[in-house]
Amino acid sequence: MATKSAEVAIVGGGAVGTSILFHLTKRHDVSDVVLLERDQIGSGSTSRAVGGVRYTFSHPLNVEMGLQNLDFYKNFEANVGQELVFRENGYMYVFHSPASEREWEEYAELYGEYDTRATLLTPEETVEVFPALDAGSIRGSLWAPDCGHVDPYTVAQSMATASMERGATVETKARVRDVVTRDGRVAAVETDEHRYEVNYVVNAAGAWAPAIGQMVGIDIPIEWLIRQIMVTDEIGYDRCPLVIDRENQFYFEMEETGSLLVCDMGQDIHDVTDPEGAAADIGYNYYLQAFEKLEGLAPALGDLEVINDWAGLQSHTDDGHAILGPTSVDGFLLACGLSGHGIMQAPSVGVAISDLIVKGETDVFDLNSLTLDRFDSDDRIEPELMA
Ligand SMILES: Cc1cc2nc3c(=O)[nH]c(=O)nc-3n(C[C@H](O)[C@H](O)[C@H](O)COP(=O)(O)OP(=O)(O)OC[C@H]3O[C@@H](n4cnc5c(N)ncnc54)[C@H](O)[C@@H]3O)c2cc1C
Repeated sequence: MATKSAEVAIVGGGAVGTSILFHLTKRHDVSDVVLLERDQIGSGSTSRAVGGVRYTFSHPLNVEMGLQNLDFYKNFEANVGQELVFRENGYMYVFHSPASEREWEEYAELYGEYDTRATLLTPEETVEVFPALDAGSIRGSLWAPDCGHVDPYTVAQSMATASMERGATVETKARVRDVVTRDGRVAAVETDEHRYEVNYVVNAAGAWAPAIGQMVGIDIPIEWLIRQIMVTDEIGYDRCPLVIDRENQFYFEMEETGSLLVCDMGQDIHDVTDPEGAAADIGYNYYLQAFEKLEGLAPALGDLEVINDWAGLQSHTDDGHAILGPTSVDGFLLACGLSGHGIMQAPSVGVAISDLIVKGETDVFDLNSLTLDRFDSDDRIEPELMA
């Protein structure tokens, strides 16, 4: 095994790991960094994500992070120097019950405190935005026209490429087998081919982060779920927002190709005990239930044909927030448990973790409320309800 050295090793080449790599190189001019990815860049949960980017959260910290990240993605080419299409199709949350309507009125008030375009719409106004919806089936919607979509795979690839252009090293097919500590501090990471002597290790291994944590004796409290997506043929509309029906637990959005992606969150698989080999058997029953929900809200979309499907892992914490920052092992940092928001939060997380490594602190958001030790504290951050 050849020995090399680097200031920082990042484990995991998804949106989160590549963003940390990118921000170390661009924001702080640190290029003595190696990113170790066991497969290919973006091959984990990142390539399975829908790519929605929004500020529509319940916790102000996430609203603020969402706004920062929308700005980053809308100006991706200027920020990263690589092309990325940001599709500003908007997020539309339909509601049915009076209780849900009251909840959305409160959220509209919250988003109104920021510089957003979120607004409540009547059923008729909702249908004006997307005519396939049935006005009779809803009480109204919260419409956030300034949210949108990116292609997650391109995000990770672009940030990795931009970082390599700045001198960082990216090793693919490089599975981390061990993280070595000395006197309570990280000392090295080992793959089959290399031992890297390092001062910092960032665990950005997504669903596999607990296994990396175990290498230094740290428990990372995340639960996995498998989320499934059904892809239809072209829907025949020029424009379609990402429509979410939280009461019926499903959402859909249109791809650039005109196909509809439908996700039935009611059919998420929760009994995942090990991310290795976790799989979903998406098929007729999934389609049937997903179509039932789709037809109830948008009868005009009931005759579509399924042309594809896929599933991916999400890593959730009990409060719906990421786990970021230092641990009891000096130099071993976490950037995991992104709870279904990893694409949209990757830019802010990259800024914060790179600041932490270089300056020992960050002012981009209150990272102290998101550290691992919060799980042992009585004074916990309020949960995120729009996870
Ligand atoms: C169906 C679905 C829809 C989603 N939609 C959205 C959305 O609209 N918006 C949003 O923001 N998020 C969404 N998500 C969540 C999003 O996919 C994740 O939050 C995000 O991809 C997490 O990124 P990551 O970099 O932390 O993890 P990953 O992309 O999983 O990257 C971790 C990487 O670590 C690597 N790795 C693991 N073990 C090792 C090892 N030992 N050595 C080296 N490398 C290792 C893996 O190969 C992997 O590439 C969705 C997820 C799913 C499944």
